Amino acid sequence: MPGVETPIAAPPSRPYICFDGVAKRYAQRGGSAPASILEGIDLTVQEGEFVSLIGPSGCGKSTMLKLVAGLTPVSAGSIRIEGLTPENAREIVSFIFQDPTLLPWRTVEQNVALRLELEGVTRIRRQEKVASLLELVGLSHAAGSYPRQLSGGMKMRVSIARALSTRPRVLLMDEPFAALDEISRDRLNEEMLRLQAEQGWTAMFVTHSVAEAVFLSHRVLVLSAHPGRIAHEVAVPLPYPRTAETRLTPEFEQVVAHVSRLLRGVHR
Ligand code: ADP
Repeated sequence: MPGVETPIAAPPSRPYICFDGVAKRYAQRGGSAPASILEGIDLTVQEGEFVSLIGPSGCGKSTMLKLVAGLTPVSAGSIRIEGLTPENAREIVSFIFQDPTLLPWRTVEQNVALRLELEGVTRIRRQEKVASLLELVGLSHAAGSYPRQLSGGMKMRVSIARALSTRPRVLLMDEPFAALDEISRDRLNEEMLRLQAEQGWTAMFVTHSVAEAVFLSHRVLVLSAHPGRIAHEVAVPLPYPRTAETRLTPEFEQVVAHVSRLLRGVHR
C-alpha cells in the first residue's frame, strides 16, 4: 500500500504541536489588502513525530515553521507547543536553516559552544557538552578546524550540533540539506533519524525532495498554494530503523510515487 491518506499518529504518543484554524496574512507594500499566505491550517504533530512539508514554492511551508518558532505571529487561530504559545516555547524549539551561518573566525567547537555561552553555561560544562555533541555528529576530529576548512556536509553537521546544544524538544528544519550533494544528503538524512531515535525530539521539516520527505518522515503533508492549505496527508508505512537499504525497497518507491503524484496535482 503506497501510503494511507488518513492521519495516523506514527509513534504512539501525545499531541505536541497543535495548529488550530491557523491563518497567516502578510501586510503588502503600498497599503493594498494583506496577502493571504496560509488559511485553515489544522494540524496536530505528535510528540516524537517527524513531519515533512512539501509543496509548490511560495505556498507557505517556511511560514509554518516561522509561526511555530514564534518569529512571526499568526493572523487567526492558534498554535500551541506542549500547551505553550510559540513565544513562550522558544527555549524548547531549535531552527536549522539551509545556510549553516557559522562564524568564520570561530573554530568548529567554538561555533557549537555559541549558544551555551549565551546561556551562561560554565566553561568546563561547555567543553563536556561540545565534545559529546561533536561525537554525536561525527566531527570530533575537526573540533579545531575553521569553517573555511570544512565541506558543505561538515558545515551542516556543525549547524546540527549547535541546534541540538540547547537540548530542544522541537527541531524545525527549512531545507537544511538542499545545497548538499546527494551522497552527503542521504548520509545526513540517515544521521538525522539516528539522532531523533536517540533524543526523541519532534520534527517539522521543509523540503522539495519527495524522496527525502518520505525517507525521513512518519507523515508527509502536501500543501497547495494561494492560499497555502494542507491538501493531503500521507502516513509513511515504512518500518524503522530506516537505512540506506530502505531506499532500495519497492515499498519506498511506491510511497515516493504516490506523494509525487499528489504533488503534481497541487502544482496544476
Ligand atoms: P515556501 O516556504 O513554501 O516557499 P514561504 O513561507 O517562504 O513559502 O512564503 C510564502 C509567501 O509569503 C511567499 O509569497 C512570500 O513572498 C511571502 N512572504 C514570506 N515572508 C514574508 C514577509 N515577511 N512579508 C511579506 N511576505 C512574505
